[in-house]
Amino acid sequence: TNMFSQPITRLANLTNTIQSTIASAERIFEIFDEPEMDFEPGHFPIVKSDKNEVTFDKVDFSYVPDQSLIQSFNLNVFPGQKIAIVGPTGAGKSTIINLLERFYEVNDGAIRMKGEDIRNKPRSEIRKRMAMVLQESWLFNGTIFDNIKYGRFSATKDEVIEAAKAAHADLFIRELPDGYDTILNEDATNISQGQRQLLTIARVFLADPEIIILDEATSSVDTRTEKLIQAAMDKLAEQRTSFVVAHRLSTIKNADKIVVMNQGQIVETGNHEQLMAKNGFYANLYNAQFIGNTLLSH
Ligand code: ADP
Repeated sequence: TNMFSQPITRLANLTNTIQSTIASAERIFEIFDEPEMDFEPGHFPIVKSDKNEVTFDKVDFSYVPDQSLIQSFNLNVFPGQKIAIVGPTGAGKSTIINLLERFYEVNDGAIRMKGEDIRNKPRSEIRKRMAMVLQESWLFNGTIFDNIKYGRFSATKDEVIEAAKAAHADLFIRELPDGYDTILNEDATNISQGQRQLLTIARVFLADPEIIILDEATSSVDTRTEKLIQAAMDKLAEQRTSFVVAHRLSTIKNADKIVVMNQGQIVETGNHEQLMAKNGFYANLYNAQFIGNTLLSH
């Protein structure tokens, strides 16, 4: 029987792998197909004593059954704090953000916002309280004005312009022949990448969410625009809680808390000075001038 059982076990394993691959592919399509995908609100306990903006409470998560990724992840985020998540590629940084946005459900433990388990809320409501910044795909074929207004449909004309000013976008918009009435083409390639980023920041100012999430793509933006983006981002983060999947030195240095991840777990937390003084994992990454795959730039 041994002769047969082994290949059968292998076949069973292969079937499992295929099934979970299909499952994650379906999940990806579901994410794009948002209205049908939203999870039902559950009835998980509310922790009244938990005043944190966000709490990760012993969170376990795996994409693939029995392949544990996030293990016993704990993080307390106070209102207004700026959290940077750093670590090598594959450490689980984006996964933490996916869980926060309820793209995936935790396997164990809980994520709470102001004491309430996020599983009690439909994702549409979670989305109202937080915004992803610098997600270019959100720009659509329409006027610049309407693209900013998308952040809050009820906004007045003045509020749209205020938001553009706050995002340092107003100046470049006014320099365009059609100003705010400029129509963005399909991929918004009639403005530069940096300008597209300023527009998405303007939109977030208008939406005025409690939490912002920034996945810092390493982008090819000229130095001047880069500085504008940085200043706009700093201003956006000033008034609210922010999470940054960080690659840039500037973001990391002024974070209230740096969460250093490796293989699904937090290996160190602290601010830049504290972590440098520890002379551990973060200090090594920093001294090697690499965070993730990215060369830290100044
Ligand atoms: P980071 O953002 O730090 O680079 P990720 O959170 O993207 O890391 O990934 C952590 C681990 O989870 C990696 O090993 C990655 O291959 C795996 N992973 C990410 N997304 C999925 C998914 N949808 N299905 C299965 N595995 C995934």
